[in-house]
Amino acid sequence: MVKQNHFLKYPRVVLKLSGESLTSINSNSNIDSKSLLFLSKEIKKIIDLNVELAIVIGAGNLFRGNKLQNCGMNRVVADHIGMLSTVINGLALNNFISQMNIKTVLMSSIPLNGICEIYDWNKAIKLLSQKTVVIFSAGIGNPFFTTDSAACLRAIEIQADIVLKGTNVDGVYTCDPKKNVNAILYSRLTYKKVLEKELKVMDLSAFALARDYKLPIRVFNINKLNALFRIIKGINEGTLIN
Ligand code: UDP
Repeated sequence: MVKQNHFLKYPRVVLKLSGESLTSINSNSNIDSKSLLFLSKEIKKIIDLNVELAIVIGAGNLFRGNKLQNCGMNRVVADHIGMLSTVINGLALNNFISQMNIKTVLMSSIPLNGICEIYDWNKAIKLLSQKTVVIFSAGIGNPFFTTDSAACLRAIEIQADIVLKGTNVDGVYTCDPKKNVNAILYSRLTYKKVLEKELKVMDLSAFALARDYKLPIRVFNINKLNALFRIIKGINEGTLIN
């Protein structure tokens, strides 16, 4: 298919996908092929708009360091398991996206010779400019961080225009929409307001990084058909924080 050359509001984006986006409520599997196919199709739609896309993948569907720690494991070891789990998700996502005839490269912050490439910001930028999707796994490569921090850090390094944080709800609300039916969705927020109101956007170290480097964040519902496409087309979707 011939790529369309539209004017893009965000020519280079980092999409943060939680590990949970790879699962589905109707499946017993931690990595569900239906979810992977859905995500790959959503990604294909924006690749056809000629956007430069980097993805940071989490691992909440497999292992999170804090949960393993609560079971008695040393936190550093627990976080190593968490980071390696993001590589497992990255392998699955990379494989499904490449089946859409999209060029993809999986990078890991932890060297895993023969499995994927080691993170290299310069190479990542070159690949992105050649319209290759780059998937960043293993977080920032250090324990005591999350993949939200990796998303913001990598976005700043590769000079992305925005971090798109895909979640299971439509954006940032006044309170938890799953617990309170009167919760109101914000369409726009400032970094200051998020901190003042203690709204849950991402963990504090990731959020502070975005604020300090004036990196916009858009929180949106990744399960909503065409939501990603609409964002890239400049249509209001979810909550913009800048
Ligand atoms: N992790 C880490 N350092 C990083 C990123 C992630 O140690 O830079 C570990 C941490 O244990 C975390 C797990 O990997 O709980 C999975 O990442 P995250 O919780 O961010 O996944 P998500 O919630 O996005 O699915």
